[in-house]
Amino acid sequence: TYVIAEPCVGTKDTACVEVCPVDCIHPTKDAADFEEHTMLYINPDECIDCGACAPECPVEAIFDENELPEKWAEYTKINADWFEKN
Ligand code: SF4
Repeated sequence: TYVIAEPCVGTKDTACVEVCPVDCIHPTKDAADFEEHTMLYINPDECIDCGACAPECPVEAIFDENELPEKWAEYTKINADWFEKN
């Protein structure tokens, strides 16, 4: 599973959303509540670990969960929790 970390906060570039083959990165730009959300999130139940999203991110916010910098370890749960609530 890939995870989006802190650099996405306030960035929300959405280049990753465009390339994800299973559309598991949300919210999308056309979502009515896009502006309300702090960052983008990857659904861990749907991500197929293809890795397409990571190099597209202009702020290097996306990591394989096994390579996530320790300082951002909490983002694995932050990504998963978002899909529980939305
Ligand atoms: Fe989507 Fe692939 Fe990134 Fe997973 S690794 S979020 S499937 S683009």
